[in-house]
Amino acid sequence: MSNSECSLTCEALLREAAGRIGGESPRLDAELLLSHITGLTRTSFRAWPERDVPVEQAERFFELVGERASGQPVAYLLGEQEFWSLPLKVSPSTLIPRPGTECVVEAALSLELPARASVLDLGTGTGAIALALASEQPGWQVMASDRVEDAVALARENSQSLGLPITVVKSHWFDQIPAGTFDLLISNPPYIPASDRHLREGDVRFEPESALVAGDDGLDDIRLLVTEGLNWLNPNGWMLLEHGYDQGSAVRDLFAKAGWRNMETRKDYGGNDRMTLARKPAS
Ligand code: GLN
Repeated sequence: MSNSECSLTCEALLREAAGRIGGESPRLDAELLLSHITGLTRTSFRAWPERDVPVEQAERFFELVGERASGQPVAYLLGEQEFWSLPLKVSPSTLIPRPGTECVVEAALSLELPARASVLDLGTGTGAIALALASEQPGWQVMASDRVEDAVALARENSQSLGLPITVVKSHWFDQIPAGTFDLLISNPPYIPASDRHLREGDVRFEPESALVAGDDGLDDIRLLVTEGLNWLNPNGWMLLEHGYDQGSAVRDLFAKAGWRNMETRKDYGGNDRMTLARKPAS
């Protein structure tokens, strides 16, 4: 679009951009990107569609639109994603927090736990689960771990900018977790089978494979967490794991074989199985 042909109003830019972006939510994507570049709110585009956008901003906007059109997730272009109403910084080293994972947070908050519960979020990425829990339960001692250095740095940055104190440790699962026991172990681990077609479609193509893929059946990391988790929990402590919509019965079986009790699979807002929780026996 050359500047001489077209007026650079918000509405004209959004319409042109949505046409180029395509996909599931082109208008929303365009609004989020234009808001990011101009500092204007999305509602202001509706209230004042004819407002002019400076040429230099329009050019930067269309650079982002081009990247979005080639598949880059909006969250990576904005460097931010909202989760549990918290604005989290994201980077291509971390999974983009998903609404489905908010159900996992909700389930954790529904558990019978001590007022000063000690909690570990394994494979925290941006820190999403740990920070959401810290925001709801200021009395809890929340620790978060990730094996990826950039994720550790990002989770710490999010903790600081949100003023939500959590302890972030660089660790591959339990490897570097300081000795001690927790009341709740929670994780959104990788759980997609390596051959899944889903990995070659949409936003996941741009996300780190290490956060998504877990061996041939998608259960490699869950097997490890279920087996080792008992050693890191107080009696009656809980483990809560996110998993794929079709993995509920396999995950319950893994828990059962390892000696856990009270296995329960719960659904996400879309009505699909999304997580399984289990309890360590009292003795
Ligand atoms: N739910 C994510 C997806 O299907 C996967 C997240 C994960 O593997 N932990 O894209």
